[in-house]
Amino acid sequence: MAVNVGDKCYAYSANAEIKEKGEYGGVVTTIMKYLLENNIVDAVVAVEEGCDIYDAVPCLITDPEDVIKSAGSIHCGTLNLAKFVSKYLDGCRDMKIAVTCKPCDAMTITELMKKGKIIEDNVIMIGVNCGGTMSPVPTIQMIEDVYELNPKDVVKEEIAKGSLIMETADGEEKGFKIGELEKEGMGRRDNCQRCELKIPSNADMALGNWGVIGDLTGKATFVEVFSEKGADVLSKVIEAGVIETAEPIPKGVEIRDKINNFMLKESAEKKAKDMEGTTGDIIDVFHAYADEFSKCMKCYGCREACPLCYCEDCCLEAEGPEWVPGGYTPAAPFFHLTRMVHMVDACTNCGQCTEVCPCEIPVAKVWDTVNNKVREIYGYVSGFKSDDCIPFTEYPTKDNR
Ligand code: FAD
Ligand code: SF4
Repeated sequence: MAVNVGDKCYAYSANAEIKEKGEYGGVVTTIMKYLLENNIVDAVVAVEEGCDIYDAVPCLITDPEDVIKSAGSIHCGTLNLAKFVSKYLDGCRDMKIAVTCKPCDAMTITELMKKGKIIEDNVIMIGVNCGGTMSPVPTIQMIEDVYELNPKDVVKEEIAKGSLIMETADGEEKGFKIGELEKEGMGRRDNCQRCELKIPSNADMALGNWGVIGDLTGKATFVEVFSEKGADVLSKVIEAGVIETAEPIPKGVEIRDKINNFMLKESAEKKAKDMEGTTGDIIDVFHAYADEFSKCMKCYGCREACPLCYCEDCCLEAEGPEWVPGGYTPAAPFFHLTRMVHMVDACTNCGQCTEVCPCEIPVAKVWDTVNNKVREIYGYVSGFKSDDCIPFTEYPTKDNR
């Protein structure tokens, strides 16, 4: 069966065990297994559950029989897989992989591909839609305090009809309005609430439950193909008979678009609110957040966690008094200004920096604010393929401006 870019279908695994363990039909897992079994890739990069559902562990799988261990969606999996691929797999210079990507994984991997840090030809991006992730420790606290449940009893969380629902092993469901939880500082991470990509159209294909209605509700995934590479993979798995497909119901396609548009509108509103009071200019933003930055204890956590910080010889390690680790505490203002200049045209709002900051500085919000100014001035959007010049990496010519 020929599959083309733009094609959409419902799908579920033909393998009963994977179908059962997978989040919505086990299609991602089945595709990954097929790619490994047929030597189309050397390894699969995915996420496995560690000690419980709040513990997301990145993994490199080379045995097709092990892929099933990575089935299922971990909503407290705030990790970004781009660094795993660029740093620990050397940007896939010598190996071919398939990687599961939330939109922020896909954006960051794409940004690193543009910068030559990940080899595009060696990577198949299997995208999953994402409405947002929740940091594990505050989520456990929220489940105890607000849901009055034992976090160990919770087997599944999902956002449905505006509520964040927790399901326990004995089938009990408890939900609270996500908007109200988030007003109180709970729920999805701050950067996820601002996230402007919910269906990863920059991956080779995107899979999610939105839009699956009728008999297949909860049992299948909606698949959309975004590249020739994705079309080739999907046609191969269909031909091999490892997944079953069905035409999507038009009403379902409509619902998927509606949910996506609604979530994007909410993200835009949150972004506008977060950026209120600053012009987006670097100096202006820096001035606005000076009190926050003065809390910095210069642990370098943000730099280490950032998937887009890839210099091997970082200028922040140079022998000047303001750079020497611990030389000034709080860090001299230039420490953050330097990072800001490096991130300004690259940041994908993945939130890793905020996630690790022990001083609770809203680093991602600051970088996202200045990155949006770059977008406004240069029309450059980080995380998407384009031939446009990268504003602070090259001067525009008339062909790439
Ligand atoms: P499976 O075969 O179960 O495979 C799931 C894959 O996702 C595995 O490879 C696994 O390793 C990987 N994975 C699990 N957790 C993470 C993580 N935290 N980060 C990166 N990869 C991970 N779909 C929607 O339509 N709307 C949503 O709002 C939505 N939110 C999601 C939020 C998260 C955090 C995730 C991971 C997925 C979300 N999805 C959403 C997608 C949906 O849950 C399913 O992943 C998708 O339908 C594919 O189902 P499947 O049975 O084929 O996947
Ligand atoms: Fe999902 Fe976007 Fe948050 Fe990434 S930043 S986890 S894609 S909502």
